[in-house]
Formats: sequence, C-alpha cells, structure tokens
Amino acid sequence: MVRDVVLLGSDILEKTSNPVEVSSDETRRLVEDLFDTLETCPGIGLAGPQIGVLKRVFVIKLDDGVRRAFVNPQITGTSPETVQYEEGCLSIPDVWCNVVRPVRVSVFAYDENGKPFNLDADGILARCIQHEYDHLEGRLFIDHTASEERERLVRRFEKKQLLRSKSRRGKRHGS
Ligand SMILES: [Zn+2]
Repeated sequence: MVRDVVLLGSDILEKTSNPVEVSSDETRRLVEDLFDTLETCPGIGLAGPQIGVLKRVFVIKLDDGVRRAFVNPQITGTSPETVQYEEGCLSIPDVWCNVVRPVRVSVFAYDENGKPFNLDADGILARCIQHEYDHLEGRLFIDHTASEERERLVRRFEKKQLLRSKSRRGKRHGS
C-alpha cells in the first residue's frame, strides 16, 4: 500500500525507531508498504519513520532494480576513509547538500522473510544504507551540516513547500 511520506517538521522524523519482530506478517507488510511507496517517489531508499512508522526497517532500490530490505539493521563497521557526496531526502524535497560519510560500511540485518545477512557495501549503496540508518536514529542528512547551513536548508525547504502548495491551489481552481 502506498503511504504518505512524512515531511520535515514532523516530530516523527526526530524520534528513535523501535526494533520489530523479525519474520512477522506485520514486518512483511511494512516492507511491502515501503517498497510500494518508494516506487511512486523519485528516490532510492525509504525508512519506516518516513511513512509514519517508528520501526527499525528500511528498504533500498538502486538503479540495478534489486529490492533490498533491512530489518533491525546494525552497522557493524565503517571505513576510516570518508567521502563527500550530495544527498537529498524524500522527506525534504527540493533540498540537496554535501554530506561527508565513510566510504564503506558493513551491516548486519534480516530480510523481510527473517533471514539474517551480513553485507559489506561501498559506493551509492553504502551511502544509502547510512542515510536510511540515520532515519532509524531520528537523524536527517541536514543534521550532518553546520547549524547555519542547516537553517539555510530548512528555510529553502519551507519556501519550496509554500510554492508547491500555491501551485496545487492554483491547479484546483483550474488556473
Ligand atoms: Zn532520507
């Protein structure tokens, strides 16, 4: 089921998510909802809190088309080398900024069927895993920037949201 994506300003995005029961119908449904919602969005990853569910689950679908679900994930290692990359977030549309993160990351998690796995990732997958994992800790990519830059990004988001709502109203009136 496609769910509404929670946007910046909601308390939910600042809260820590709770572990889920591995291999339960509820967890499988949550994974399906995350994938269904992600399919309708211009993004590559989505975490529970972003659809209003404070559970430790996120999904990733990159250009390779592989559906990757991470249930109760744990980051088990990160490389000392870091890299800067421009990130965006479905909860903060129209806002992009450079974030420095480790190049590689190791993660332990369960898939949607309760099968445990270890994954060593680099490149865009490593980047996405860290971004989504942050959501489970109530952290956003803009929280990695200095406070002045963060404020600037929040203002940009608010301005863009205002423009969006104006154009939506315009469309309703047929203009
Ligand atoms: Zn995000």
